[in-house]
Amino acid sequence: MNVSAIDFIDLKTQQQRILPDLERRMKEVLCHGQYIMGPEVGELEAKLAAYTGSRHAIAVASGTDALLIALMALGIGPGDEVITSPFTFIATGEMIALLGATPVFVDIDPRSYNMDPARIEAALTSRTKAILPVSLYGQCADFAAINAIAGRHGLPVIEDGCQSFGALYKGKRSCALSTIGCTSFFPSKPLGCYGDGGACFTDDDELAAMMRQVRVHGQDRRYHHPALGINGRIDTLQAAVLLAKLEVFPDEVTERGRVGARYNVLLGDSVVTPYLAPGCSSVYAQYTVQVANRAQVQKALADAGIPTAVHYPVPLHLQPVFSSLGLGRQSFPVAEAAAERVMSLPMHPYLGEPDLLRITEQVRLAVKESV
Ligand SMILES: *Cc1c(COP(=O)(O)O)cnc(C)c1O
Repeated sequence: MNVSAIDFIDLKTQQQRILPDLERRMKEVLCHGQYIMGPEVGELEAKLAAYTGSRHAIAVASGTDALLIALMALGIGPGDEVITSPFTFIATGEMIALLGATPVFVDIDPRSYNMDPARIEAALTSRTKAILPVSLYGQCADFAAINAIAGRHGLPVIEDGCQSFGALYKGKRSCALSTIGCTSFFPSKPLGCYGDGGACFTDDDELAAMMRQVRVHGQDRRYHHPALGINGRIDTLQAAVLLAKLEVFPDEVTERGRVGARYNVLLGDSVVTPYLAPGCSSVYAQYTVQVANRAQVQKALADAGIPTAVHYPVPLHLQPVFSSLGLGRQSFPVAEAAAERVMSLPMHPYLGEPDLLRITEQVRLAVKESV
């Protein structure tokens, strides 16, 4: 019997697979020495744009910076409101608030965990300046509905696609579905580098130019600064890593789909498995189920050598940093209920059948024993 611990995410198998190409590309950077904005950055941007079907890709220092740069390029600031999801990683709401704007949360759909478009209209005010849906766990939010509402009110839409890079929505790729798409290349994301990285995507030439400007201190030409910006550049070495990883990424997206589908079958109705909306695929940044008695189930699984995680235990409106918004419990009951029940299982493209069988058997056992 195999009792070794299972990895939550396995980056080593991928590294073995791409090692020669990875080493060659990293060595090239060490040879030319252009560590900041070297040729690999432009090459990466061209390939990212082609992959998503966007006109422009702007590679940046992290997913958080991608969100910040997108919001800054749109001129979001004090007094403005940005509609977003309360059920996400902190960065989404954090970057809105960092610019002095107010995150206005709308509750999520209980099946997809993404912003419920039916609740957006009620949250709009004269101060609303943008809508920022999150494509959580690897599946895109309902952009047809969200873009239609935004269009009626003349609002830009920013996709937080930090978990969904590679996912398809009605035949189009995540990050190419709205005014601006943002993604993260944090190591554990579906496409990750060996440090921090991210990217912004848009079809709009002016917004692309503005985002490039914000990325380097609001500079349009050397030492000339028409606007405020940040140091939001990606490292050339990380761009080289991403170029090597992009070679196998389409195959990995397929494998993620295989693992997700296999999980769904093997778990059956022992837990609430992920729901895929019509026309959507998921890259399963997280394979997340719902269980009752989560703490007990997690403990039993940990004892069996199976790591789990919770994405996310506290919705943004209940985070201490957002207490000044005055949004107490029951403000967003769907997000709050999800936060108490969600549990993510090990997920990566190299998860094989023996491990899948072992994990799912233990999950079914743990769920049965927890009631
Ligand atoms: C990871 C993540 C971010 C932040 O990305 P970083 O690269 O870690 O800065 C933002 N939003 C969501 C939904 C994420 O999952």
